[in-house]
Amino acid sequence: MTDFILQQDSRIIRPLERQIDVLSDLIQQDKSHQKFPAELENEYEEFRRNQMVAQDMHLISAGLIVFLVFSWAELYMTGGRSISVFIIRCLITFGCFVALYMVPRTRLLNYGFEIVALGAYICFLTLLWQIVAYADDPNRYLYHLGIIPMLVFMLLSLRNSYRMMMVASLSMLASYVIVLLSFRVMGEASPYDNFARQLTPFYLLFLLIQIAMNTYLSYVIESGSRSEFVKNRLLALEAQRLQYLGQRLQQLSTTDGLTGIANRRYLEEKLASEWARGVRSQQQLALIMLDVDYFKDFNDAYGHQAGDECLRLVTGAIRVACRRHGDFCARYGGEEFVVVLPDTSEDDALLIADEIRQRVMTLEMEHATSEFGLVTVSLGVAAAVPAKDGSYENLLRLADMALYQSKDSGRNQVTAAAALDA
Ligand code: GH3
Ligand code: MG
Ligand code: MG
Repeated sequence: MTDFILQQDSRIIRPLERQIDVLSDLIQQDKSHQKFPAELENEYEEFRRNQMVAQDMHLISAGLIVFLVFSWAELYMTGGRSISVFIIRCLITFGCFVALYMVPRTRLLNYGFEIVALGAYICFLTLLWQIVAYADDPNRYLYHLGIIPMLVFMLLSLRNSYRMMMVASLSMLASYVIVLLSFRVMGEASPYDNFARQLTPFYLLFLLIQIAMNTYLSYVIESGSRSEFVKNRLLALEAQRLQYLGQRLQQLSTTDGLTGIANRRYLEEKLASEWARGVRSQQQLALIMLDVDYFKDFNDAYGHQAGDECLRLVTGAIRVACRRHGDFCARYGGEEFVVVLPDTSEDDALLIADEIRQRVMTLEMEHATSEFGLVTVSLGVAAAVPAKDGSYENLLRLADMALYQSKDSGRNQVTAAAALDA
């Protein structure tokens, strides 16, 4: 059954299945936490950027505010001496807030992680500047400790990109080491300074360890996020596939394969619901039953394939006549069809039945062994106001009896069930 559906719907189902295979392979080969093949990697990058916009904007804003508050505190502690750094920091923070607003709305978002890393690095440079410029400030060692919250911020804001997190953190550390080696950043000869000098290698080691731990942590976080992405995507695709197959299965189980209209199963469902609706509305429900005349002879004379084509053309004629909203036609079996006409009187149904009869004749399908020389149809019509204790089966039987009356009376005609009683 599935094979049949796949043949019919391969354009929709195949691409879905290809994606499902790629994702299942990644999970099976335990590669769902690593870098993906190009196409999937692009999708993941986009997901990750959207996630950053949704989750991390507040975090980055909070980081900038903390940065500003610290700058202000510094200004206070240096007794206003660091006013130039403070002004630069205010400008940088303002620029970062503008970027925070603009970047998610432009293509620059593609470089979201890089931009966050660069912004943080620029903020960090102001710290280095302070270390260099205020080397004899009484609070100078606090600036050195400022690297720690910077590294923590890097971990939080770049946790989903361990590579970027590592690059940015190591750049910070390297810049710090260069500043330590190139500038006199400690005071002269006080016992306090000597002690700080002895501590410096250990401090650098601790920073290095922190960076290593941060990198490991963000690697774990990124791997988890990748695995989750693959699993969620797989689930979504599977759901999409199942939904599609379910719909197609439902469609196939209610449709006649040859003519494309409803099959008998669906007709019976539809008749039951129309009957129930008619019981409530007390409007007439009309049925037309139609049978192709001398169809066995047609098959014998022109072959089964021509017979199939004939049934398709007859279906076309019926469909054209079922033009009102709610009108419904189905293949009842073999070369028999039923038309359901809600809220329709028997007289109106007779007109529609005769229209179908004429339309079939105007198809001008040759039928040499028929006395009409053409393919014709016989029709029976019945209508009733559905009663609560009645059933659509009686109405079908009446339409069938009317149809047989049409056959008996010479075929290629319409008979109303009411006429039978008369
Ligand atoms: P009548 O005028 O009394 O209706 O005669 P008839 O020959 O049409 O009726 P009969 O019931 O003897 O034959 C029906 C034929 O319809 C027999 C069967 O082979 C053919 N038939 C049923 N389903 C199909 C189909 O799907 N395709 C084709 N080509 N023929 C079909
Ligand atoms: Mg028949
Ligand atoms: Mg027939």
